[in-house]
Amino acid sequence: MYSVQKKPCTNGCPVQIDIPAFVGLIAEGDFRGAGRKLKEQNSLPAICGRVCPQEEQCEKFCTLGIKGESVAIGRLERFAADFVASLGQEETPPVASPTDKKVAVVGSGPSGLTVAGELAKLGHSVTIFEALHKAGGVLVYGIPEFRLPKQIVQREVDYVSKLGVDIRTNFVVGKTATVDELMTEEGYQAVFLGNGAGLPYFMNISGENLNGVYSTNEFLTRVNLMKAYLFPQYDTPIKCGRRVAVVGGGNVAMDSARTALRLGAREVYIVYRRAEEQMPARNEEIENAKQEGVQFHLLTNPTAILGDKCSWVKTIKCQRMELGEPDDSGRRRPVPIAGSKFELAVDTVIIAVGNGANPIVASTTSNLKTNERGYIVADDKTGKTSRCEIFAGGDIVTGAATVILAMGAGKRAAVTIDDYLRNK
Ligand code: FAD
Ligand code: SF4
Repeated sequence: MYSVQKKPCTNGCPVQIDIPAFVGLIAEGDFRGAGRKLKEQNSLPAICGRVCPQEEQCEKFCTLGIKGESVAIGRLERFAADFVASLGQEETPPVASPTDKKVAVVGSGPSGLTVAGELAKLGHSVTIFEALHKAGGVLVYGIPEFRLPKQIVQREVDYVSKLGVDIRTNFVVGKTATVDELMTEEGYQAVFLGNGAGLPYFMNISGENLNGVYSTNEFLTRVNLMKAYLFPQYDTPIKCGRRVAVVGGGNVAMDSARTALRLGAREVYIVYRRAEEQMPARNEEIENAKQEGVQFHLLTNPTAILGDKCSWVKTIKCQRMELGEPDDSGRRRPVPIAGSKFELAVDTVIIAVGNGANPIVASTTSNLKTNERGYIVADDKTGKTSRCEIFAGGDIVTGAATVILAMGAGKRAAVTIDDYLRNK
């Protein structure tokens, strides 16, 4: 067996996969063993292998990367997970004997799926309550098919179900029943809140209410979850014009731009008020967008969206910017260049300037502490909130982050919840 003493790559992985061990098993040709090793720490390897920002995590710390190129850890993880799945005989780990303790999990994104799977393995009776009609969170409604095939997400959801987790969809916690009602009326002894950060932000400029303006959430949900591109076989329509402006510079903006191209748009623009090196999107995503023909209007700030007489989007008014002094984030602040306003003719505008916390769960749960931005206050290491029987993790605590960080939070909370249920 391949072994190393120091594992900087493992330390760079938020769920501490034993990377040298699983890569070593692949090198020995033991692909099933590699898949098993991955699952010890990561219940969603086929997903993480595809969407983790590896260049900022495991691969950043690879010792081979010091002098040359890092091991392609993400791609190897994806290979091993896909190989095991292709055999069609994925092993389900043993589940401990029932403890008769009931746990409710709000949300079926990566944090919810992880905490649910871990607690089910420990013998607890777990129910996930999901607002949408399909489980998976952003993995199904946000990240597009071309980056993360939905069949893979379904496989992972099925795996969690096989562990005995009950998934109740079309159940909006805070409306269908509150967290307090789940505990007092349905007998749940602990609740994990993994309801994500799905509330879209807008720019508050005029014209955002015109026809043809979408939040990125709405745009991607219509396409990914509601299959609007198959209208009328599917009920949900989408109107993606020939010229599309996507406002924002993150991964979500890149996903929207590339999705618009796939819906048939001829020209797709990224409109971003800062410079390319300040874009929060992964370099890989920016490169992919460029290669596919997305045009970048950088240092360009939208100031208004104008419509025609039927209130359909016609143009987006923009202001050219230059970089000034650093702001609070340490990035140089974009400042307007006098006399440089211009209009971009477009038929669709997609606003991808970030998401925040939807207040529905926190506002309907008594004595649950939130911060000034509406995120639930929870301990990073344990998931403990201001209420001893309620735990939280993922984007609803950290703000929009990553799949693997949400999973890590789910794993840590599972340990605390198990301890709480056994020792309270
Ligand atoms: P979510 O995945 O948001 O899941 C929350 C779930 O809770 C949802 O299913 C929601 O419907 C449900 N819910 C909300 N309110 C209620 C309620 N009241 N009752 C019941 N259910 C409720 N991260 C990466 O690592 N790599 C990427 O490439 C990447 N790309 C992304 C692309 C897009 C378009 C987006 C939007 C995000 C992307 N992210 C990416 C971020 C990543 O997907 C999130 O950080 C992660 O999914 C957060 O997981 P979560 O479990 O906290 O919440
Ligand atoms: Fe790297 Fe993500 Fe896999 Fe961890 S889960 S080894 S960070 S790709």
